[in-house]
Amino acid sequence: MNKFTHFNLKQQILNLEISKIRQFDDEVSTFEPLIRLTLGQPDFPTPEHVKEAAKKAIDADYSFYTSTAGDIKLREAASDFASVKYSLDYDPETEVIATVGATEALAVTLFTLLNPGDYVLTPSPFFSLYESLVRMSQAVPVYIDTSESGFLVTPEQIEETISTLDKIPKAVILNYPNNPTGMTWTADEAKAIALTLSNYPDLLAVSDEIYSELVYDSTHVSLGTYLREQTIVINGLSKSHAMTGWRLGLIYAPSAIASELVKTHQSLVTSASSITQYAGIEALTHGQDDALPMKAAYKKRRDLVIKTLKDLNLVVTEPKGAFYIFSALPKGVGMDSYDFCYGLAETHQVAVIPGSAFGAAGEGYFRISYASSLSDIKTAMDRLTRYVHDLRDLN
Ligand code: PLP
Repeated sequence: MNKFTHFNLKQQILNLEISKIRQFDDEVSTFEPLIRLTLGQPDFPTPEHVKEAAKKAIDADYSFYTSTAGDIKLREAASDFASVKYSLDYDPETEVIATVGATEALAVTLFTLLNPGDYVLTPSPFFSLYESLVRMSQAVPVYIDTSESGFLVTPEQIEETISTLDKIPKAVILNYPNNPTGMTWTADEAKAIALTLSNYPDLLAVSDEIYSELVYDSTHVSLGTYLREQTIVINGLSKSHAMTGWRLGLIYAPSAIASELVKTHQSLVTSASSITQYAGIEALTHGQDDALPMKAAYKKRRDLVIKTLKDLNLVVTEPKGAFYIFSALPKGVGMDSYDFCYGLAETHQVAVIPGSAFGAAGEGYFRISYASSLSDIKTAMDRLTRYVHDLRDLN
């Protein structure tokens, strides 16, 4: 039993687990010299011009609370960015909110939407934060296994899952490009999902598009283009501008929903950091293409990892975005994803994340984050190759 239960702390929190990604990363951290392909953060520095803008903001004493939804200049920049890049149309006055990372954007959204007992459709494997936030809201995640549909949820799966429930779900959480699989949708696929969801006008889509600037060989399609009135788009600068530590997220939502989201946001944090917002204005206006060189580097790394996995005859679909590869475990080695990854770290000093950290549908897989230097990835792939050969020799 948790030692604090005698204080009668909130049950949903007592039941929560620390992120399995972090847990695993900590567990294997003693196996030095370890190459970590575990965490989901860019290894690039924040662009110089963005850093300069932040320094200027400090010197100019831009050190006060901003308006709750964010400095209007930032909201205008965010609205323009979404319009130029993804043909989205959100009024900066009433439909854009700056948050403390996409994490707070998701928390604000789910805490505003969910009543206890509400169902939330969650395609699985999924980013574990979703489950924590849904459970903190005393709502119920309803998983849709996408491992048989190329890790993309289909309209049929959505319909089928809804038909098994005793009430219409309150929300669906969609995440394309996806963590952990790197999959994303085409315009036609997004449109088909939007069309299905439009049959359930009380069901809201929470579309986590934080990897929108990291789509290879095509451009990102936002669900907001096809299902504007039912969609809350989540985005931010963590991945596009290598700004994970700055904590700047964005919500785009129809004004009737945004006006409620703002209340939750105000109660949680008052407003996002003023200095970070100022840097964000620079990033979204003069740094609209800052992700391009990073994307080119990620693509090279992705191709190297894919080649290694294919040479090892592992079943893997080439990711279309983000910086993750979700590979099947080698067949016939008789291990689950945790044992496989623990063994890799212990015997060959490479850390990757067991697929089970992303829900039951992730068992049988492991996630490689290739947001690391090409030379580290090369060494890691040599070690992974030796590990898989050793395992096969044993079996
Ligand atoms: N959504 C997804 C799918 C993520 O992978 C992450 C971070 O890894 C986040 C949201 C959180 O982003 P932020 O750092 O902006 O809070």
